[in-house]
Amino acid sequence: MAEKLCPSCHKPLKLREAGYPMGSSFLKADRVHVDIYECPECHGIRLYAAESDMVTCPKCGSVHSAKEACAVCALNAAIDEATNK
Ligand SMILES: [Zn+2]
Ligand SMILES: [Zn+2]
Repeated sequence: MAEKLCPSCHKPLKLREAGYPMGSSFLKADRVHVDIYECPECHGIRLYAAESDMVTCPKCGSVHSAKEACAVCALNAAIDEATNK
């Protein structure tokens, strides 16, 4: 992973949170995961599209954080359960 530099101080940014889920889990299209970086100098927060801990679900092909279960599959399983009764 290339080092990220603060655009104002040119100090290396520190990773605060990797693969942070932004947006609602009910709005799949708007759901995005970001890596949150903080500059140790000016404490500016920078957000980058998550490049770590992301996995592609082998079942539905959606990309999600490795830290959490696939939300699309969880929803599909819930729908299946509801319709198979
Ligand atoms: Zn800075
Ligand atoms: Zn899935």
